[in-house]
Amino acid sequence: MKKNISIIGGGPSAFLLASFLDVEKYRVTIYEKNKTAGRKFLVAGKGGFNVTHSEPIEKLIDRYTPKGFLDKTLSGFSNTDFRNWLEQIGIPTYIGSSKRVYPKEGIKPIEVLNAILKHLKRRGVLLKYDHTFSGWETETNDPIINNEAVATDYTVFSIGGASWKVTGSDGSWSSVFSEKGIKTKPFQASNCGYQINWDPSFIKKHEGTPLKNIAMYCNDVIQKGEAVITTFGLEGNAIYGLSPQIREQLLSTSKATLFIDFKPSFSLEKVSEKINASNSKNTTQILKRELKLSVSQIDLLKTYLSKEVYLNKTLLAENIKKFPLEIIGTATIDEAISTVGGIDLHAISENFELNNLPTQFCIGEMLDWDAPTGGYLLQGCVSTGVALAKYLNEVDV
Ligand SMILES: Cc1cc2nc3c(=O)[nH]c(=O)nc-3n(C[C@H](O)[C@H](O)[C@H](O)COP(=O)(O)OP(=O)(O)OC[C@H]3O[C@@H](n4cnc5c(N)ncnc54)[C@H](O)[C@@H]3O)c2cc1C
Repeated sequence: MKKNISIIGGGPSAFLLASFLDVEKYRVTIYEKNKTAGRKFLVAGKGGFNVTHSEPIEKLIDRYTPKGFLDKTLSGFSNTDFRNWLEQIGIPTYIGSSKRVYPKEGIKPIEVLNAILKHLKRRGVLLKYDHTFSGWETETNDPIINNEAVATDYTVFSIGGASWKVTGSDGSWSSVFSEKGIKTKPFQASNCGYQINWDPSFIKKHEGTPLKNIAMYCNDVIQKGEAVITTFGLEGNAIYGLSPQIREQLLSTSKATLFIDFKPSFSLEKVSEKINASNSKNTTQILKRELKLSVSQIDLLKTYLSKEVYLNKTLLAENIKKFPLEIIGTATIDEAISTVGGIDLHAISENFELNNLPTQFCIGEMLDWDAPTGGYLLQGCVSTGVALAKYLNEVDV
């Protein structure tokens, strides 16, 4: 007789778990509290829909924190495996110039979601909407869904992080898990805007302007990309990728220092050479002509460097390669692309099983790991789903 697996939460982690579970062995049901599944998945699709990143697997693995936690999981179902799987269900992908992976042009996020749901239906996976988990039955530890204990052989939670509450992933489960004695950590915003106390005249002129082709550093971690100047501070992929390092500094000193490299493709020597070789006496013209810095980049240097430093070619070159900026806070959790916190990693086994609730598992963003945007988040979520499916398929039931 088939055993029952109840998956709570209908997002990408659940989809891939349900896609890889052996349906000859298990009857699989997904319980989703919304009237539809995958709402955050669709939100993710609204901007650039990065389903994964095409980096070589060793490099990709290196983007995740804490180090080591997802290594086996990501190698077990890699970015290439995810692309192949999408192709198999009728969603071809392509690699963009940023090396991020997108569904082939013309394929809308809703079509990707529909292809996945159709695939699940074909496999006999049952999706029950308007079904909300609220706790456990005291005697049996069966999950309570819509106020009724659901008798099941295995329970998998894939109920997401705590940002973008409107999508259903509101993190309200955290207190329920804590009360059950499962160790959780407070949610914190990740991949979010960071607050900077901009000089008023600078921000008036440059609000909304992107700083393109830069690199940012924090605690020796480098992230290339772009960042947009906002009244709040800075947002964009160059800064999102430094979230763990910024959070660490903010936590210990209430501020964080990051550095911008305005010319990541040039060494310091090359920047100095370019500045010194120019015939012009006008520093702004030199930066524009020789180094092709944008008006915002030049104004940033002018506003924040003293006149003496700006006019000193050696010190100016050093600041072009390592310009310090002070971060004084983060955007709210709800505005963040993802959250860290949730289930403490010490509360689960290497197979994502809750230590004090055997046969119950947690996967996806609800676990306390972090990665930059650009496809790494979805890849992390789907890889945890597949890893658990492979484990459950082999479990002796
Ligand atoms: C604006 C934005 C853009 C993004 N862009 C990208 C991107 O381009 N690339 C990328 O890799 N990632 C991106 N992400 C992140 C990515 O979407 C998430 O990391 C991913 O969806 C998390 O998957 P999950 O399955 O763990 O949880 P979710 O997708 O959050 O799914 C959890 C599900 O559980 C349901 N649920 C919650 N509580 C209960 C309950 N008590 N009972 C029943 N059901 C419940 C929720 O309604 C939800 O449907 C983006 C996120 C946002 C917000």
